[in-house]
Amino acid sequence: MRDFSRRDFGKLAGAAGAGTLTSVAWGNFAIAQGAAKVVIVGGGAGGATVAHFVKKEAPNLDVTLIEANVIYSSSFFSNLYIGGFRTLESLNHGYAGLRRLGIKVVHDFATDVDSTKKIVRTRGGRTYAYDRLVLSPGIDIKYETITGYSRDAARGMPHAYNTNATQKRLLKQQLQGMRDGGTVVMVMPNNPFRCPPGPYERACMIAHILKTRKPKSKLVILDPKRAFSKQPVFTEAFDKYYKSIIDLNLSTEIDDYSVISIDPKTKEVVTRAGKKVRADVANIIPQQRAGEIAAKAGVAEGDWCPINAENFSSRKVRDIYVLGDAAIAAEMPKSAFSANSQAKVVASDIVAALAKKDKFEPRYRNTCWSLLAPDDNVKIGANYTPKDGKLDPSGSFVSQRGETADVRKQNYQESIAWYDSITAEMFAKPGPAAAAKKAG
Ligand SMILES: Cc1cc2nc3c(=O)[nH]c(=O)nc-3n(C[C@H](O)[C@H](O)[C@H](O)COP(=O)(O)OP(=O)(O)OC[C@H]3O[C@@H](n4cnc5c(N)ncnc54)[C@H](O)[C@@H]3O)c2cc1C
Repeated sequence: MRDFSRRDFGKLAGAAGAGTLTSVAWGNFAIAQGAAKVVIVGGGAGGATVAHFVKKEAPNLDVTLIEANVIYSSSFFSNLYIGGFRTLESLNHGYAGLRRLGIKVVHDFATDVDSTKKIVRTRGGRTYAYDRLVLSPGIDIKYETITGYSRDAARGMPHAYNTNATQKRLLKQQLQGMRDGGTVVMVMPNNPFRCPPGPYERACMIAHILKTRKPKSKLVILDPKRAFSKQPVFTEAFDKYYKSIIDLNLSTEIDDYSVISIDPKTKEVVTRAGKKVRADVANIIPQQRAGEIAAKAGVAEGDWCPINAENFSSRKVRDIYVLGDAAIAAEMPKSAFSANSQAKVVASDIVAALAKKDKFEPRYRNTCWSLLAPDDNVKIGANYTPKDGKLDPSGSFVSQRGETADVRKQNYQESIAWYDSITAEMFAKPGPAAAAKKAG
């Protein structure tokens, strides 16, 4: 028997730094020996955090994390790698810290869920029984939404929009290898998609590389949307830093800049209104859906998964939780910060339910930072509470045009601290505070 106090939780959450703290209230309770099985599919921003918090909270629970990859290569901060502000290696994280806590980390691909027998099957031929199942599989790319695009075509025209390190490396190598005077084309996705400001931060990072290394080159952006996240500060940056480089094409009423086909051989992209652009480098970011295990488990409705806003349990199948990008968490955006915040609520809910304790009022939070140029970073965020089946935002904030260099630099420093904090939480690494103490 073990008691988990608010002080313990404070220590655990505090190790992660201020940026990622969630405001879930945790109670004092105990978990019996030989307790229930929790299986988590997907060891990313959502799943790894759930595994950490459930095990830390209730060490006697049998926690299994099924993750396809041995190394997690984070999508968040991958734009900084493209822009030359980080190495690819700095995005890589392993699972040793979670194993040290006693979590069974299995590197395999979950292929099916039988929610009647309450088992998960894997490609490796194993089955895992669960009392509670958590799905945080992130996104799958909907290649079929653009004629000519496919998993194969992505080897020549990368999306670089998931945890696949090869895709990120490919985009960067193609940009490095392009002639000065070449054309980069970015094809933007329609809502909803992973990380609403992500493609526009990437546009800044690509433009930064072109400006500093290949100034005669162009970046053509083809966008099916009429508006996008943090648009005023992004367009200010496009004008201020990249005026002669970025050619932004936002759609009007008829989705004219929605890309309908590409030719993988010539790298020509064609929009609905008939505009054709030949790319030297094409970064195609298509529509997305929840990772396929969600549909296999029966928790998806269309592309995404409906959840109960108070705890991210599936609205469709009992004893399954879905969080992170796979869930319909409107108004919360699909971000690592959101997934991490949701994960703490899910972990709290699972432990409370299995220990038959009362549930506490959940509160969620998100902040997304974007780097526009060296030391110039902007942010957007809000708190969220469940209301009428949705997540109601409050205390929203967003960076404004014309802010001082000091403010923007401070945002950048905050974002770096956040990256260290969230990855420390996900992978149960010593947090920045603990690491500093050790060094001192
Ligand atoms: C370019 C870019 C920039 C971004 N920048 C930011 C940012 O600055 N801030 C921010 O908060 N967010 C950012 N994001 C968004 C963030 O990366 C995602 O929102 C977040 O990773 C979602 O977490 P998740 O747990 O849903 O999915 P993921 O973190 O993608 O984790 C899913 C995991 O599940 C595994 N998996 C999937 N299916 C299976 C299966 N069947 N069996 C076993 N394993 C499986 C995958 O291998 C993966 O490791 C960015 C994204 C991109 C693409």
